[in-house]
Formats: sequence, C-alpha cells, structure tokens
Amino acid sequence: MVESEHDVALQDTDRIEGRSALVNNVNAALALAGAVRSTLGPRGSDKMLVGGNGEIIVTNDGVTVLETAKVEHPTANLLIATSSAQDRVARDGTTTSVLLTAELLRNALELTRIGIHPSLIMNGYRLSVEESLSELGKISIQPNDLQLRGVIETTLAGKIDVGLANRITEIAIEAADTLSEEQGGDDLERVRVKRLRVAGGSASESEIIHGLVLRKQRLDFTTPSSSHGGVIAIVDGGLENAELELDAQIEIQSTGVLAGFHQRKLEKLRQKVARLTELGVELLCVRDGIADEVVPMLKEAGITAYRRFEREDLERLSILTGATMIRTVNRLSKEDIGHYKSRSEEKIEDVWHLRIDGEGAAMTALLRGTTPIMREEVSRAFDDALGVAYRLSRDNLILPGGGATQTHLARHLRAFSTTQKGREQLAIEGFADALEVIPRALSENAGLDPIDETLALSAAQVKSGPWIGLDVMSGENKNMQEAGITDPLFVARQALEGATEAAISILRIDDVLWAKVEAGTPDWRDEEEQD
Ligand code: ADP
Ligand code: MG
Repeated sequence: MVESEHDVALQDTDRIEGRSALVNNVNAALALAGAVRSTLGPRGSDKMLVGGNGEIIVTNDGVTVLETAKVEHPTANLLIATSSAQDRVARDGTTTSVLLTAELLRNALELTRIGIHPSLIMNGYRLSVEESLSELGKISIQPNDLQLRGVIETTLAGKIDVGLANRITEIAIEAADTLSEEQGGDDLERVRVKRLRVAGGSASESEIIHGLVLRKQRLDFTTPSSSHGGVIAIVDGGLENAELELDAQIEIQSTGVLAGFHQRKLEKLRQKVARLTELGVELLCVRDGIADEVVPMLKEAGITAYRRFEREDLERLSILTGATMIRTVNRLSKEDIGHYKSRSEEKIEDVWHLRIDGEGAAMTALLRGTTPIMREEVSRAFDDALGVAYRLSRDNLILPGGGATQTHLARHLRAFSTTQKGREQLAIEGFADALEVIPRALSENAGLDPIDETLALSAAQVKSGPWIGLDVMSGENKNMQEAGITDPLFVARQALEGATEAAISILRIDDVLWAKVEAGTPDWRDEEEQD
C-alpha cells in the first residue's frame, strides 16, 4: 500500500527540501485514505484482511483496516494515531477522520502550489474549524428516545444486520442508562461493562446482566456454591506465603528445622484466615493463587474462595461490591471489605460461571453467537454501540447524517470565507472542499455519481435546510431526522478537530522546511523532478 521509497526520515532535512516533503507526506496520507474510503457508510464494502499469522478478518470498519495494516511511513502513522484518537474519544467516525485529514492535506498541497504559505493555510484551517463548530451547535438538535435509538442504529448501519442492530442498540442503551450517573473518564464504559462471549444461542439473545458473570468455579467444592449476600474481600495478590518459600531455600540440615519452617508458614496463613473471619468475610476473591494448606482453613472459617482473576474483573468486582482491592490480607481493615447481594454458580452453555450481584454499577454483557466470527462481530458492534450510547448520555446533541452536515458546512464556510481577508479565504475554501469528501465517498460507495449527488444535495439544502441528506439505501435526498439517519455531535466535532490538528502538524513540518529555502520562493524544480 505505502511504498518503501516514501519511508523517509523527516528529520533528514538535507535530503528533503521544500515542496517534496509535503508532496511525500500528502501522498502517504492519500494512499492510506484510499485504503479505507470504500468502507465508508452502510453501503461501504467489506475488506478482507490477512494478518501476519494467516488469520483472516473481514470488516468494513476503517480503524480495524488501519490498525491491522502494517504501515511505516510517519505520516501514515500519524493518520492512524488520529483515527485511534477518534476511536478513543468518540468511538465512531474513524473513517471519516482519516478521509478528512487526507483531503485537507491534498488541498493544502494545491494551495502551496499556487504560492500560498503553509502558515496561512494553517490559519485558514483553524478559522474554518472554529466557524464549523459554532455552526454545528446551531444545526444540532436534542433527540427524543426514539431518535436516540436512531443515532446508535446509524452507528451500526452496514456493520451487522438490521434485526441484530436493534437488539445491540437496546442492550447498549440499557447499559448506558445504568452508567449515566457514574463518575469516570472516557473509558468508564469499557471498565464497567464486562464483555463475555458465550458460544451458543443466537446473537439476538445477547443481554445485559446487572452484576458480574465470570467463567469460574469455587476452589473448594465442599463450600457453598450460592448465598443470598454477605461480606466480600478482594485481594490483588495471592494467599500463598511466598516469603517463607524463599527462606526454605536456605540449606536445611535437620528435619527439626524443616518442621519449624512449616509450622511458621502454617501459622502465618492461619493468622490471615483469622483476620478474614474477624471481619466477617464469607466470600474471598484472590487475583493470584491460594496455597493448598489454606483451603481447609478457609472451609472451616466458612469462607468460599475464588482465585486467578483478571485484574479488570477484580476492578469491576470492587465497584460492584464496594470492596477495596488490597495487596495482602495482613493489611485488611474494616473499610476494605465490601458487600454483595447474592452469588451463585450457574451453567451457561455447559460451562460453569460465577454470578455476583451487588449495588455498584458494574455489568456483564453476555454476547452470544454461534460461531467465533459471529461472536467477534457482535462484540465489536456492541463496543461501538455502547461507546456511542454512553457518550450520548452525557452529550446528547445530534446532527444529520448522510453527508448533510458536511455539505451544509461546506456551503456555510464558502460564504464565511468572503468575510475573511485575502489568502486565508482560499484556505477556508480548501477546507470546505475537503469536507465534501464525505458525501462524495458515501455516494460513490452506493454506486451513485459523486459530482451529481453532491451538487444536488447542496441545492436541496438551499431549498429545504441543512437536515436534508442522502439516504444511500434508497439513493434519495431526504430529511435525515425523519429518515433516522443521524450522527452524534461529539463524533463530528472530534473528527473535525482531530483531522485539522493532524493536517496542521504535517503542514508545520513543511513550514519549518520552507523556512530553510529562500523565503517566498518554493523549490519547484525539486518537486517536478520527484513527480
Ligand atoms: P466512520 O468510521 O467514519 O464512522 P462509517 O462507515 O461508520 O464510517 O460511516 C459513517 C457515515 O455513514 C456517517 O457519515 C453516516 O451519516 C453515514 N450513514 C449511515 N447510514 C447512512 C444512510 N442510510 N445513508 C447515508 N449515509 C449514512
Ligand atoms: Mg461509524
């Protein structure tokens, strides 16, 4: 995809002078954008990717394509980083952000060709983003419940079939509602909701469990498998007495010494169990191992124990029950223990699972599917749906999809540019043109003529307002609110900001290089030879 001759170290300014650096970087960006352009929208085509180990992924998700591709060009990597940031912040709009970045760069290159300095272009682009964001605020609307579902369904459009998209949307909203009052960062929804893929059952039987379900059985089958609630302690470590094992490596000469060691070890373990009993602990979850000797002690103390947890699951358990994750039982105090409402072991598709319910907002998404590929797909769709649903619960304004937003902004910016001075006008126009890559790619992927469609759409908007967009399923321009084709404002905002930032950071490199050649006279010859 990206040829190795593009692999130039950008620090090497001796070799790359003037325009050729920009040409090089723009080419890399366009090559990468070309790889994902055909996946945009519900009628985007799937890409089949073959990984290094021969594994096959079929996807029409732009960011998956990019992350799987092995790319080495620094500009290409910057674009990938931009789409990953988009994924992290907005969980959607990754393809859009890559297409926008590449198009902003393409137009910047054109502008430098007619002698416009990169710093002017950067200025014009910054003005454009600012103006766009303020305009987006004006055309966005607050959705009702039905419209909220519509946004999430639009996110899933083309990724999974419609019936399944309905179900995934439903459970994503259910989980997001539960989290809406919680405090936490961008990743809260990843931390709080465990994804458990279950073989068997149809994908549409996927569900949210308000509690934790873990593929686990208790350490000692003679302890009770269920309870109607009690006190829990969580140990982010082991219950093994590692210190003593180290001591034991000292040369041991008499059996008496050995027996002494053993006694002391048992004594330490007994103290730990006593500490648990004192605090009324009845359920113990330990990240690492539990020494064999402790098993009968725990049983005697009426404690049911589980071991070998993923750290993330322990974090969820801690949120669910209010128990603190402590490093060692010796330091367990009253404040550290937690409470759960009930626990049981149940069989899901023939495999034993532990289920714990509690007051805290931690959940499990049981994602079903008959084949591993199906489960993988359901899981990815759920990730997107929950990511968007959760963010919408905090920032719920929505915009028209189907290229409407970008078409409107392009027209708005062209009018806005005339209010600006001189050469920046051209940069703002360049920005406006770049936005239209979205309606163009959407039409192309639907087998429609991109030029005709973009013109027709803009004309329709002049007549009937910014909410008119292209429904690629029917090929008609219609009101996107009525058609239920909508995108969250935060997705569009992040795409605009992220793409502009990335484009500017590449132009800045060029700016520095340009400063090295004679001011105002770009080195044309060099570039022509390169072309
Ligand atoms: P991204 O990675 O950028 O989210 P997608 O492949 O998910 O890329 O496509 C998102 C785009 O598809 C958005 O601009 C959205 O408005 C548009 N879209 C979704 N459904 C439709 C539809 N039925 N008609 C036209 N555009 C649509
Ligand atoms: Mg999307």
